[in-house]
Amino acid sequence: MTEFALPQYVRQTINKLESNGFCTYIVGGCVRDLLLKRKPLDYDIATSALPENIIRYFPSSYPTGLKHGTVTVIVKGHPLEITTFRTDGIYSDGRRPDQVVFASDILEDLKRRDFTINAIAWSEKEGLIDPFCGCDDLSKKIIRCVGEPTERFFEDSLRILRAWRFSATLGFNIEQKTVEAALKLKDRLGAVSAERVHSELCKILLSKHLEILLDLINKGFLIKYGLKNTPNTLISLSKIENDLIIRSVTFAVLLEQNKSIERADTFLSLLRFDKRTVSLTRLVRKIKISFEVPFEIKLGIAKYGLDAVLCAASIFFMETGVNAPQKVRVIANSGECLTLSQLQITGDDLMQKGFPEGREIGILLNKLLLHVLSHPEDNQTEKLTNLAENMKK
Ligand code: ATP
Repeated sequence: MTEFALPQYVRQTINKLESNGFCTYIVGGCVRDLLLKRKPLDYDIATSALPENIIRYFPSSYPTGLKHGTVTVIVKGHPLEITTFRTDGIYSDGRRPDQVVFASDILEDLKRRDFTINAIAWSEKEGLIDPFCGCDDLSKKIIRCVGEPTERFFEDSLRILRAWRFSATLGFNIEQKTVEAALKLKDRLGAVSAERVHSELCKILLSKHLEILLDLINKGFLIKYGLKNTPNTLISLSKIENDLIIRSVTFAVLLEQNKSIERADTFLSLLRFDKRTVSLTRLVRKIKISFEVPFEIKLGIAKYGLDAVLCAASIFFMETGVNAPQKVRVIANSGECLTLSQLQITGDDLMQKGFPEGREIGILLNKLLLHVLSHPEDNQTEKLTNLAENMKK
């Protein structure tokens, strides 16, 4: 029988429910990840206990999704989602079940789950419960719907994006019937909220398999956001820093440059990216730096900030293969003064030396920074004060 070494707080939670007579399992993503020998992001627990029982046995519990039978409990400082076995009723909006009915056993609960690899449960007593051969699909590296894919995608079209997301994050293939059903029902993706699309897209952007993103776009699944096709260069996004902001901005600006979308910032905004990412994108669209010239990189960091220059360098890297982000990092880590905050003089220092308060001080500081960019050895308070005196004359 398969054994898993669960963290103590998970074991303790399961024991508490079981000793009170409730059948309890770990289920979904955590079982999948344990079978793949990956560390689960979190542990989901499915139980025959009703929400009111869960709340009774766990003093620190929060009804985070009571409508769906989910209670979050805090055990030894760790949040754990405990969900009562359930079946989903009819889905009239293509996204959420109209009604959730509690089920009597784990088999019913596993039936409502999206993919065979996510529909495996485990308990110490019973071992693996795998009614849809998810273990087999895990070993064959296949994403397959539980049951009839057309029905499952019709019920909830977010599952289409989830299929491509798991394919990208796990490096699995999507089974042919599942692909066909997704293509047939792609118009229903319109019912999925931009927030949900955003969350799946972010996970794909951070994955190793950017060819799956290309496939997702070229199959027309993001058409609602004005994206019909994408340049093949997009694959090299996997070679740039695994940072969500850098990858999102680079992705969008590259699409704009290749005329796959009209405007990078509008595209990200429609997809509910945060304000900082959208305004960074606006800035990066305008940056023109020759990454062969170190001084231009320094000037760029001083003018636009490190993040914006790193994004611009990443786009350059994807287009030319020249590792510009590395050049930027070397300069940023050199310890040289590249920003006003690294200048060995402040506006207050200048005012104390008798410079009048106001806009002029800002202009002076920027002139000093420009000087220090080409004369790093002059970044000393005394030298900068003298320089400021001379600039005033
Ligand atoms: P990860 O945490 O790595 O994103 P996960 O599989 O844990 O992956 P969750 O979104 O946390 O993903 O979902 C937990 C489980 O709930 C899934 O493994 C699956 O069994 C089920 N599930 C989640 N979303 C759906 C859905 N839209 N339709 C059917 N089942 C779903």
